[in-house]
Amino acid sequence: MTTSDADFGMRVCVLASSSSGNTTYIETPHHKVLVDAGFSGKKIAALLASIGRDLTDVDSLFITHEHTDHVQGMGVLARRYPHLRIYANEGTFAALPKSVGKLPYDQLSIFKRGTTLTLGDLDVESFGVSHDAAEPQFYQFHHDDRAFTILTDTGYVSDRLAGTIRDSDAYLMELTTT
Ligand SMILES: [Zn+2]
Repeated sequence: MTTSDADFGMRVCVLASSSSGNTTYIETPHHKVLVDAGFSGKKIAALLASIGRDLTDVDSLFITHEHTDHVQGMGVLARRYPHLRIYANEGTFAALPKSVGKLPYDQLSIFKRGTTLTLGDLDVESFGVSHDAAEPQFYQFHHDDRAFTILTDTGYVSDRLAGTIRDSDAYLMELTTT
């Protein structure tokens, strides 16, 4: 991928999505964000390098829920990149596994379910979802009339949820039976 000052829209790259780990990269002209950090910091850096991107440019990390395959590298990334802002809801922050380690509190932002966050040219909406985690949520990213929904680890999609997903231009959905 290449970037320029032109508005190229929103770009999405699923760096990895499986039970061994999940990390998705999204960029707009003004933001570079990750959804989940389900690998070691080193592995996430390597995955980003494979698409010509660098962690030093990533400004935000959105966490869907506290399972290790979604948060494994989050502590390392937070500590290594002081400019990185981390978003999750309160239930998720409270339930993080010990292995994440100490998080720099000034980098954490509570992102409540059912709310919208505006980050310059990127709007992010959060939705609650059914999964065996403390307070799992998924995200829909909006840029320039385009929407991308990322929904992983859910065993049940309600009609309302299906409508939300259907309204997206693209989505990543991983259904599980757990
Ligand atoms: Zn999970």
